[in-house]
This record gives sequence, structure tokens and C-alpha cells, in this order.
Amino acid sequence: MTEDLRPLILLDVDGVLNPWHKQGPHWLSVKATCDGVTYPVVLNPEHGPMLLQLAQETGAELVWATTWAEAANQEIGPLIGLPELPVIPVNSGAGAPRVHPKTPPVAAYVNRRPFVWFDDDLERADRIYLKTHDNVDRFRIIDVGPRKGLRALHVEQAAAWLTSLDDSQEAGRPLIRRGKTGSTGG
Ligand SMILES: [Mg+2]
Repeated sequence: MTEDLRPLILLDVDGVLNPWHKQGPHWLSVKATCDGVTYPVVLNPEHGPMLLQLAQETGAELVWATTWAEAANQEIGPLIGLPELPVIPVNSGAGAPRVHPKTPPVAAYVNRRPFVWFDDDLERADRIYLKTHDNVDRFRIIDVGPRKGLRALHVEQAAAWLTSLDDSQEAGRPLIRRGKTGSTGG
């Protein structure tokens, strides 16, 4: 059985690739359509190459984790140089109390693959939910401020974390750990 154990890089659109304001003269201001509604969007054409380089250098797979869902592949990715990516069905409605609606679908999707998650809207309850979910192994949420969106600093944090996964493998630790330490019971 060939199970895909590559780490994942989860991408949000609003507040991450589409912050509140353009951050430089090279940014694009466009209109993009999702579910028949058109929104103004600002995008940095450098984000695609940055993220592709991150994925290539760390052996990770980029996936969308955005309410734009499939529209991210049509309306956002091509404008910043990203190819079509897998889409986590975060609009599935598989919610849980107090956590962001995206979090349960993300937990269901990752299937114990390590992941970094660029998002602007996650809180402590989401971390606790993920840490205590059987389908979730190691993860790192990178909190992106929605005013400025994704910056090189965030990509560097992701690269460092993903690279540390490699180090732990080389040290003889399996990529997928069995059993969990710690609980929320205390
Ligand atoms: Mg967001």
C-alpha cells in the first residue's frame, strides 16, 4: 500500500493571499467570482512562486483550505502562478462547537500527514480540536495577519518547521507517530 505521507501546506485565500490592502505596486487588484458573487481581490503575483518553492524545497504538497473552494483554482491560483491544487472541502458543514467551520474538514482530510496551515482566523479552540483528533498528527498553524497577508516571514516559518520534520526522520523517528502524548483531560 502506497500511502501519501508527504506533509501538506494548507492555503487560505481571504486574509492570507487576499489581505485587506495591496502591499506594493506590483500587486494586482482584480474582481474574482465565487458561487456567482463577484468580490474585489488583491493578489501578489510573487506568492505563487514563493509557495511553489516552499513546496519543492520541503517535499510538501500545496492544498487549498479556503471557502473559495474550487473557485480558488479558477479565480485565484492562475493569477499568482499556482497550478491547480487539491481542495479541502471546508464548506462541507461538518462543524463542531466553538471551532472554525474549516477545522473539522481539515482534520478529516489530513489523515495524519503533517501540515502547516496559513490562515488568519484560527484560535486556541482550533488547536485543541486538532491536537486531540485521532486523524491529526503533527501540525503548525501559522497565523497570518489579514491586514498585510502572507509575507516572506511566514513562508520562512513554514520552511523551518517542515525542514525540522526531515531532521526528525533522519534521527530515526517515524514520520507518522503512533499514539499520542498529552490530553485535554487535565
Ligand atoms: Mg481567511
